[in-house]
Amino acid sequence: MSDKSVSRGMKPDGTPFKVLLVDDSMFVTKQLSRILEAEGFEILSTASHGREGVEKYLAYHPEVDLVTMDITMPGMDGVSALEKIIDFDSSANVIMLTALGNKDLIKRAILSGAEAYLTKPLDSEKVLGCVSNVLQRKFN
Ligand SMILES: [Mg+2]
Repeated sequence: MSDKSVSRGMKPDGTPFKVLLVDDSMFVTKQLSRILEAEGFEILSTASHGREGVEKYLAYHPEVDLVTMDITMPGMDGVSALEKIIDFDSSANVIMLTALGNKDLIKRAILSGAEAYLTKPLDSEKVLGCVSNVLQRKFN
């Protein structure tokens, strides 16, 4: 692994970007953790449904640099959780995760303040490219 790829998870000051993962699939949470930690990101915490995601965002604020938010979860869905997070912190950086075919929900999420979306199944280079784009827009 080159130094350049490792630095994708690092802020200009050399500290890691801190990420909150919200997904009801433990498989996806583990996959994202592996992809992001290999690049130097720090996984602050994970949540398995929307309400827990909102609670953790509030609890860790202002430490959370990025949230990955699954759309389809039992209880509070990801778009509703996104809207609650944006109500609390309009500068929150949230990337939605979705299966194909959720176009209306993706549109609602982007209009509500999501920065980008990723389609499952996840590809590690697409994940890192998307995350890097969002963070570069916000931190440079
Ligand atoms: Mg799900």
